[in-house]
Amino acid sequence: MENINELYRQVIMDHYKNPRYKGLINNSKYLNIFMSNPSCGDELTIQLYLEDGIVKDLRHDGKGCSICCASASIICEKLHEVKIDQSLVIIQNFYEMVKGLKFNEELINTDELSLQGVAKFPARIKCATLAWKAVEKGLSHD
Ligand code: ZN
Repeated sequence: MENINELYRQVIMDHYKNPRYKGLINNSKYLNIFMSNPSCGDELTIQLYLEDGIVKDLRHDGKGCSICCASASIICEKLHEVKIDQSLVIIQNFYEMVKGLKFNEELINTDELSLQGVAKFPARIKCATLAWKAVEKGLSHD
């Protein structure tokens, strides 16, 4: 169990220090969604480029704690080229996991599993789900 926790900590720190798809694109085809988590100080902008029912691109930028920033990096990597309806299923499943509820392990990879530990810390669940809520809002836009 110790080793698993260490592995998960390393995954989170890797995404935090080397974020994937960070930085916004100046293009009107992209949808911008801003969300904040005042209890922690996390501020995040997610950008989505949707086409033909598929998430063609996701970007993120902002500032926040390691969990919030790592989570944004993880979802941006995860949902590239994924259909919108499937993305919404993946997002709901992630919520179940971080709330400590039953979830579908087939839809979860090691990167997301690294965030499972927040279920024990209710205050951090908001950090872990901020990016996912922003993406969900963008996908439900029209
Ligand atoms: Zn946070």
